[in-house]
Amino acid sequence: MLSEFDLIAQYFNRPPRAGGQVALGVGDDCALIAPSAGTQLAISSDMLVEGRHFFPGADPRSLGHKCLAVNLSDLAAMGAKPLGFMLALALPEARPEWLAPFSEGMLALADLHQCELIGGDTTKGPLNICITIFGEVPNDGALRRDAARPGDDIWISGSLGDARLALAGYRNECMLPPATLSAAGERMHQPAPRVALGLALRGIARAAIDISDGLAGDLGHILKRSSVGATLFVDDLPAGPMLRTQERNLQHSFTLAGGDDYELCFTAPADKRDEVLAAGHAAGTAVTRVGIIEPALGLRLTDAAGAPLDLKLASFDHFATP
Ligand code: ADP
Ligand code: MG
Repeated sequence: MLSEFDLIAQYFNRPPRAGGQVALGVGDDCALIAPSAGTQLAISSDMLVEGRHFFPGADPRSLGHKCLAVNLSDLAAMGAKPLGFMLALALPEARPEWLAPFSEGMLALADLHQCELIGGDTTKGPLNICITIFGEVPNDGALRRDAARPGDDIWISGSLGDARLALAGYRNECMLPPATLSAAGERMHQPAPRVALGLALRGIARAAIDISDGLAGDLGHILKRSSVGATLFVDDLPAGPMLRTQERNLQHSFTLAGGDDYELCFTAPADKRDEVLAAGHAAGTAVTRVGIIEPALGLRLTDAAGAPLDLKLASFDHFATP
């Protein structure tokens, strides 16, 4: 049986990258990070609980990827550059068959984004994975939720709804061919955080948020914090490649109120359309203009002809009564 310290040494302790900004990583009482001059630290935590955020028995490699991906997505939504992260882990038992793929999935994504595991805490208990991530943004350069202005365009990265389609398939809410379910499931289990896009949008976008609980609800956070309203062009929303094979009503409801998309929703002044497209191109991520910020509060939905659509939408809320 692995001791707590063997476990950390074997799966989570790697020397900090030479020339990086982590001055001291795993092994001391605290980690030390050296932020660049003229920057602010961007800090975020996300916790994943078995049975709540992932199915019991979920594939450990995907889980390792996903729990870091959702945190990187928060940095992306601020336009922050990743520096490092802390891992607080409660585990029912120390099984190498679980720990090895879990740490490999997580550390492969960490390497891809040059974001180092700098410490954490390990304890026995029901499976629970909490990551706190650190990044940096130029002073006062973060893409905040309260920065949208009337007249801004609303943009979405990538595509929406395939993760929610996978959930519908797993729950037998709809019948999907096995190949469709497995491709949609990839979107749910292996989200690609839009870090490069967040960085490319610095100085171009005004407000941004990452879409974790469904576009309508998450855009609602921008609207509320910025004291503005919006119209969304529902037929312009980029449905995922699997969702695109489904009927229009399902496309509407899963693009607007899916969940687990981890795309960016951001606003930018209308005279910066070319710059937004160039940022998307440079980051290798498609960006689609899907609406407009308006002074009148509330969220309005219109179809391709500009006619109002009346859709009942529910965004995900852990404490909402069903
Ligand atoms: P302390 O008791 O001082 O909090 P611990 O014994 O909990 O220290 O941890 C020892 C070292 O291992 C610390 O540097 C801590 O950050 C690190 N650590 C603990 N658990 C993890 C983990 N799951 N992943 C990465 N580092 C960890
Ligand atoms: Mg500790």
